[in-house]
Amino acid sequence: LFCPMASSFPNVSELVARARRLYRQVFGEEAPQVAVCAPGRVNLIGEHTDYNQGFVLPMALPLVTVVVGSQTSGQDVSVVTAAEDAGGPLRADFSLPSDGSPLSPGLPSWANYVKGVIQHYRAPPVPGFRAAIASSVPLGGGLSSSASLEVAFYTFLQQLKPDDGDKVSKALACQQAEHTHAGVPCGIMDQFVSVLGREGHALLIDCRSLEATFVPLADPGLVILITNSNVKHSLTGSEYPTRRRQCEEAASILGKASLRDTTMKDLEEARDRLDAVTYQRARHVIEEIERTVQAVETLKRGAYAEFGKLMVESHNSLRDLYEVSCKELDELVSAAMEVEGVFGSRMTGGGFGGCTVTLMQAHAVDRTILHIKERYSGTPTFYVTTPSEGARALSLP
Ligand code: ADP
Ligand code: MG
Repeated sequence: LFCPMASSFPNVSELVARARRLYRQVFGEEAPQVAVCAPGRVNLIGEHTDYNQGFVLPMALPLVTVVVGSQTSGQDVSVVTAAEDAGGPLRADFSLPSDGSPLSPGLPSWANYVKGVIQHYRAPPVPGFRAAIASSVPLGGGLSSSASLEVAFYTFLQQLKPDDGDKVSKALACQQAEHTHAGVPCGIMDQFVSVLGREGHALLIDCRSLEATFVPLADPGLVILITNSNVKHSLTGSEYPTRRRQCEEAASILGKASLRDTTMKDLEEARDRLDAVTYQRARHVIEEIERTVQAVETLKRGAYAEFGKLMVESHNSLRDLYEVSCKELDELVSAAMEVEGVFGSRMTGGGFGGCTVTLMQAHAVDRTILHIKERYSGTPTFYVTTPSEGARALSLP
C-alpha cells in the first residue's frame, strides 16, 4: 500500500543486504552462509491477558530482525548488530562453555538475548558462529524487537544444527531465554506470533492451552496503522511485576489457578474480600479476555466498526482500571478517534509509552496521520502495516 505520509521501512532483502555488508566489514571478505528473519508484532486486542492464561490477538509485522552468519570450527561466538539507534555497530564476543556449564548473562546486555537462546536451544551443543544483525523493528518501542531477536537467533541456530522443528517448543524456548537471560518475566505472546505468524492473518492465542487459531485479516479496504509515541516511561520495569502479582493475588482470593478461570460474577461476589485496586486489575483482565473473544467474532463477520469499538473499550480499561496508559498514548488514541473512517484505536503492548494501533478505512490513512501529527504533543512515527509471515530461513543471493 502506498502511503506518502507514513515512514517507510526497509524490506527484508534490503535488511539482508545491510547485514551482509556489516558482516563483511567486521569479519572480513568471507560471505555468510545462512540468512534468516523473524518479525516483530503488534497486539490488536487482549492486553495484559497472556500471563493470566487468557486470549490475545496479535499479528506478525513486516518489521523484522534479520540475522546472517556462518558456523565456525571453534567454540567462539561473535555477533555484531547494526544498532543505528546506538550510533553505530556494536559487537559482542564470547565463548561457548565446552563442559556443558551454563552460558551466564553479562555485558553487553543486548547479547543476553543471544546467549539465552543458545542456552535454551533444543539440540545442544550449539557450534561456534559469527553473525550480523540488521533490524527494522524499533528497539524498546513495544513492537517486540526482543522476541524478534530471540526468534531470529533460534531460527539461525536451526540452520546450523537442526532441532526437531516443533514450533510451540521453539517459542517456549525463546520465552525462557527472555526470562533467564534478559530478566523479563514476559508472557508467551511475542515469541509465539513471531514464530507462527501468517501473512494475511491475525493469530488468536489461547495462553492456557497454547492453542493458536489463524483469523483472516486481509481486506484491501482496511489499514492497520501503528503510531509510535516515541516515549518510554521508566515505570515499566517495576509496574509489570506489580500487575502480575495483583492478578495472582486476585485469582488466589477467588480460589482459582488464574483469572482465566473466573467470571465477573465470581469477582462481584468476592468484591468485599478484595481491595479496590486489586478488584480493578482483575476486572480489566476478566473483561479484556471476554472482549478478545468477541473481537474475533466481529472480525470473522467483517464487522470492523464493532471491532473498533472493542479496541476503544480495551484502551479505556487499560487507562482507568489497569492504569498502564500514559498521557501520550491517551492523546494518540483520542486524536485518531476524531478522524472519520477510523474504526478504533488503542495502546498496544505493556504500556507507559510505546505504540498505539489503529484500525481504519484505507482511504482515511493520510488524513489520520496528518491529524495525529497536528494534535500530538510529541513527535510520532507511523507504520502502515499488514499481517505478515512468521520467522523463516531466507535464500542468499
Ligand atoms: P521491545 O521488545 O518492545 O522492543 P524490549 O525492552 O523488550 O523492547 O527489548 C529491547 C532490547 O532488545 C534492546 O534494548 C536490546 O537489548 C535488544 N535488541 C532488540 N533488537 C536488537 C537488535 N537489532 N540489536 C541489538 N539488540 C537488540
Ligand atoms: Mg520486548
